[in-house]
Amino acid sequence: MDIGLKLRKIEAALRSLSPHERGCRLCPRECGVDRRAAERGRCGTGHRAVLARGLLHYGEEPPLSGVEDVRRGGASGRTPRRGSGTIFFAGCSLRCLFCQNHQLSWGLEGREVTDEELAAVILDLQARGALNINLVTPGHVLLPILRALRLAFREGLALPVVYNSGGYEKASVIAALEGIADIYLPDLKYRSPEASRRYSAAPDYFEHASLALEEMRRQKPRLVLDGNGIAREGLIVRHLVLPGRAEDSIAVLEWIAERLSTETCLSLMGQYKPLFRAPQDVRRGLTREEYESVVDRVEALGFEDAFIQSGTFLEGEHLVPDFSLEDPFPWSGSGRGD
Ligand code: SF4
Repeated sequence: MDIGLKLRKIEAALRSLSPHERGCRLCPRECGVDRRAAERGRCGTGHRAVLARGLLHYGEEPPLSGVEDVRRGGASGRTPRRGSGTIFFAGCSLRCLFCQNHQLSWGLEGREVTDEELAAVILDLQARGALNINLVTPGHVLLPILRALRLAFREGLALPVVYNSGGYEKASVIAALEGIADIYLPDLKYRSPEASRRYSAAPDYFEHASLALEEMRRQKPRLVLDGNGIAREGLIVRHLVLPGRAEDSIAVLEWIAERLSTETCLSLMGQYKPLFRAPQDVRRGLTREEYESVVDRVEALGFEDAFIQSGTFLEGEHLVPDFSLEDPFPWSGSGRGD
């Protein structure tokens, strides 16, 4: 890793993105608020990041968390269990009605941190053996993140940076992250504007997310693993199948196959739960048949690299994180969180 180059890229990104502090148009909501003056836009946060938790997370995809590789067609055996150095932020520019992290996205639970405090959390995760620094829902707090990364790289950070996003991003902002983000981990949640309006009040979701994902793919066309099956760089696209919406899931997959590639690494998630303010039409779990109809399409389209969840997720065994606990993922042994 060329730290000097990383630092130059961060300086350039800060120069190009810092005008957003006084009139924020960082995400497609384009609120225009002055975040230095503590005005709040749709994401709910101001000038500083609000840190919800920094922890070693074992529940991400195997190349990120370093646990058993269950990928179809490409098993590379077992990998070390060191965990993804995952940092959860409060606030979100998308705010889905069924969000499983609603305590953070809507409830804004967490503590405001300085750039120095955030850099210290990043370096502590590295010291505890994290495989990467996994920034969850980072788009609305990108400026404090970049300032903290600048400090952390100067102090010896040497891990890949994961940009773990809901996908509702501006392609121009993603372009500014070239050379800074090593692994893109976006959702592509919806193809249908009706669905994205209904569940996330964002009828323009696909319009923006599709351009953002094309930019991510331009920068990181394929997933690169080390000898232990751990991701060094690349792109993994996540999609959560919603109950009654398998057709939209299939439309999402068809777009990825056509506009990105069937070589794109996919993570097809089936752990939907009717949480928080889920509207009536999605106030039930996903059926095995619904999920499998989408899995069939993954295979028919010829995706070569896909994480498919086992049936246990569909039988109610998926546990929901509780950020009021010291360890929000007690079943996986994430351990102490900052
Ligand atoms: S990042 Fe927040 S304040 Fe800025 S445009 Fe998006 S929702 Fe509005």
